[in-house]
Amino acid sequence: MKIAVPAEIDGGETRVAATPDTVKKFVALGAEVVVERGAGLKSRIIDADYEAAGARIADDAAATLADADVVLKVRRPGAAELPTYRRGALVIATMDPYGHEDAVAAMAEAGVSAFAMEFMPRITRAQVMDVLSSQANLAGYQAVIDAAATYDRALPMMMTAAGTVPAARVFVMGAGVAGLQAIATARRLGAVVTATDVRPAAKEQVESLGAKFIAVEDEEFRQAETAAGYAKPMSAEYQAKQAALVAEHIKKQDIVITTALIPGRAAPRLVTAAMVASMRPGAVLVDLAVERGGNVEGSVAGEVVDIDGRRIVGYLNVAGRIPATASQLYAKNLAAFLETMIDKASKQVAVNWDDELVKATLLTRDGAIVHAAFKPKLA
Ligand code: NAD
Repeated sequence: MKIAVPAEIDGGETRVAATPDTVKKFVALGAEVVVERGAGLKSRIIDADYEAAGARIADDAAATLADADVVLKVRRPGAAELPTYRRGALVIATMDPYGHEDAVAAMAEAGVSAFAMEFMPRITRAQVMDVLSSQANLAGYQAVIDAAATYDRALPMMMTAAGTVPAARVFVMGAGVAGLQAIATARRLGAVVTATDVRPAAKEQVESLGAKFIAVEDEEFRQAETAAGYAKPMSAEYQAKQAALVAEHIKKQDIVITTALIPGRAAPRLVTAAMVASMRPGAVLVDLAVERGGNVEGSVAGEVVDIDGRRIVGYLNVAGRIPATASQLYAKNLAAFLETMIDKASKQVAVNWDDELVKATLLTRDGAIVHAAFKPKLA
């Protein structure tokens, strides 16, 4: 059983799909692990650390991937990479398949079994494999660090001989995994924190972190959660009422962090240009949803936009801005999943294709697209 860890080809990707700790685990399970030279450098993992853990270092992607039974990646393989993959290999990565159906088709054509880690069911057994949570948690933390670094003032209240500095007011929009970590981080830095969400369950979680909850709490709000615990799209009427409340609140905020997402859809627009303009010059907005179209009007993917002194931060791959920690957790998520597909006695890959985790994440197999959301529709 050969497990390959190629370097990420996307220049903006700082993370790596295996760490010396996970390599050690695979070796103990009887695997041969091959890591491409330099694959961990952006996450501060040097080749010698992988070698000490039992991996072999290969000079290039082709040598890394040759005959690999399993390929671990952060991002899905690009069309140019796929010819180097063995047909039948398991490829485990974040696949970002929505809107990239051609990439899913290319993986099917290459004959690999492609697993999309972001489709891991959010059930107790799979918590240790939940890449969305592990990375969103870090993104929420890093969003506050980025906001603080951009903001021209201190966050905590300071009472000094030279005068009193008021605490910064931070408003977090969307209190899921990222938002809750943003609230906790901003509180640790001494900010006065408020937060909003459309899911009623978020209210108690926000308050338990010491932040104030801001939302129109009408009947629609009380029903606004799917059985899976995700946000529902809200009616135009609710959105208008909530927008009016937010518009009043946002004027007084120093920092706004937006994290609102609805699975499979474009991110909801929560902050208009007029709301941005109503904030004081010096205000900072961090839009964690920028990759999905953005919660803040005027945010630009990968850029910090300055609108008359109000900065809108639109960094991409925010978890990847703390790559060493992000890789540590991501690699652990992948290792936990892969472990369920290794037969301990024979030390071989043995996938149970009926396992609910496999069924939920598998996109392609044996030359075909098998995931219901991406199967070509019959005419
Ligand atoms: P997400 O990334 O899909 O969305 C982020 C947040 O934005 C959510 O809280 C959502 O309600 C909110 N949002 C959407 N539209 C909004 C709007 N118009 N205004 C304000 N907020 C809006 O969410 P997530 O972080 O993946 O969490 C989703 C749910 O899954 C939560 O209930 C979370 O507790 C749950 N969860 C469960 C597990 C588990 O059981 N293993 C793990 C992680 C998360």
